[in-house]
Amino acid sequence: MTSTPSAPRLVLATRNAGKVSELRHILSDAGLPHELVGADAYPQVPDVKETGVTFAENALLKAHALAQATGLPAIADDSGLCVDVLNGAPGIFSARWAGAHGDDKANLDLLLAQLSDIADEHRGAHFACAAALALPDGTERVVEGRLLGVLRHSPEGTGGFGYDPIFQPLDETRTTAQLTPEEKNAISHRGQAFRALIPVIRDLVG
Ligand code: IMP
Repeated sequence: MTSTPSAPRLVLATRNAGKVSELRHILSDAGLPHELVGADAYPQVPDVKETGVTFAENALLKAHALAQATGLPAIADDSGLCVDVLNGAPGIFSARWAGAHGDDKANLDLLLAQLSDIADEHRGAHFACAAALALPDGTERVVEGRLLGVLRHSPEGTGGFGYDPIFQPLDETRTTAQLTPEEKNAISHRGQAFRALIPVIRDLVG
């Protein structure tokens, strides 16, 4: 009797179901057969301290920890908002810019207050995302995606999360909080980074 080979499994370092389904779509659009599961499926995985000083370092830390804990090829991403006039801040501190981790409203309000005197022509910013793949044998790769834009003076839109209500991509009249999820995924830093990971997965995982 022959058994059907099962699809190779990949694990993504997130407990966010939205991120898992976004990457699942990107994998299947690219024709990759892999089964993608979130870190939730592996409760033994320890929480990783993001001690890196770049998005790439933090993505790699998370991917390696997950690959070691599960014995599977692991993917992780790390992202944030980089503001030109703040020399790239909040950057890796984006999720805790106002102090408490993940307080999106406080982070956005603080950033708007800090930029209140800054004129339109100096309000350039970009979202950045590093996506890393790590194998249990220690092999690693990391790729990056960016979305360039400008920061509004006040929030608009109810979609997305984080700094989306004040971020207007170049060539757009809406903020990323006013785009549909599909429109945002098509141009976003995370969508770009995950799509750039496809050939890397083909190469290293098969
Ligand atoms: P994480 O890498 O998904 O944990 O995101 C880090 C932080 O960067 C988030 O808490 C947000 O403040 C910010 N950020 C990252 N990506 C986005 C985005 O697509 N829209 C808005 N804010 C984002």
